[in-house]
Amino acid sequence: MSNILVYALHYDGAINKNSLGAVSEGAKLAKELGGEAHAILVGENIPQDLAASLGEYGAAKVLTAEGPDGLGQPVVDAMAAAIGSGGYKYALFGGGLLGFEVGAGLAARLGAGVAMEITTVRAEGGELVAERPILGDSSISEIKYRSEVGIIIGRLNAFEIVKGGAGAAPVEAISYEASPQSAQATIVTRGEQRGADVDIEGANILVAGGRGLGKAEGFELCTDLAAAFGGSSAVAATRAVVDAGWYPYAGQIGQTGKTVAPKLYLAAGISGAIQHKVGMQSSENIVAINKDANAPIFEFSDLGIVGDLNKILPKLTEAIKAK
Ligand code: FAD
Repeated sequence: MSNILVYALHYDGAINKNSLGAVSEGAKLAKELGGEAHAILVGENIPQDLAASLGEYGAAKVLTAEGPDGLGQPVVDAMAAAIGSGGYKYALFGGGLLGFEVGAGLAARLGAGVAMEITTVRAEGGELVAERPILGDSSISEIKYRSEVGIIIGRLNAFEIVKGGAGAAPVEAISYEASPQSAQATIVTRGEQRGADVDIEGANILVAGGRGLGKAEGFELCTDLAAAFGGSSAVAATRAVVDAGWYPYAGQIGQTGKTVAPKLYLAAGISGAIQHKVGMQSSENIVAINKDANAPIFEFSDLGIVGDLNKILPKLTEAIKAK
């Protein structure tokens, strides 16, 4: 059998966008392999209709398993149990921290081949071939799996969300045995995250601010510009400024933050450190404002503006508003 098991992460009564992309991708690939894509949700009191809704993204069946929200090991246990019941040739993850954690844990549990940061997958001769950009995205490596089950972990938002499947999918509750590992970590408190409403992954336009903004209040220049763009725009930040408390962690781009690929990425007062670059280099258009003509960010910008952001950002905001 050539079925694909896709991990779908859910919180606050919604499936995360990255997972919807993974389910869509899994459905497309399973069809090419002559199999089915099944999604799996693990958590507390998973709503039936939420699970069934994954049928719209191509899941032929949705498995649900009860387990504590937000922990990786119980998901590993549940997915290993589902795979153990047979029929799965691949497990697919959309990426994100929990995707990485669960995917790697599942590979270790099954002794399976694993590759992460995958941007493209294709079916070839009844197998899947995963592509991963390497060497700062300047080259592509191709990965095939020798193990019975191949674990594919996508780059965040690499897979396109495609709606238009057969409608509600059948939902099957599964049980699994908790492994000794799953008792080794537990969530002690769950707090409100400052900036939980900051959604940089879904935005088409990102105005990102760095240390060049000078102080937390400097972010107003970015928020004003994002508001002028309107629609699907948001404000993002570098690690230097989130560490300084100028902006919420939810808005951090980069190696230890989020990976984004908006249509427009406008970087204001950002030097362009490699750890920042890896999180935004796939943006369609990169515009940088920096007072230092030798700032590294200009090396990978489509348009560079050398000057003081305190003068340029307000003018840009006025110009966009006037449009
Ligand atoms: P700076 O490097 O200080 O750059 C500020 C820029 O603003 C300068 O280029 C300056 O010329 C310009 N500027 C100053 N004033 C003005 C003005 N008035 N007008 C216009 N331009 C002005 N960083 C991330 O962003 N994301 C990560 O995920 C991340 N992960 C990391 C992981 C590790 C293990 C390590 C070691 C580092 C990580 N970093 C990360 C930090 C990274 O190395 C840089 O320190 C950080 O990205 C720098 O942030 P910045 O560009 O805001 O600040």
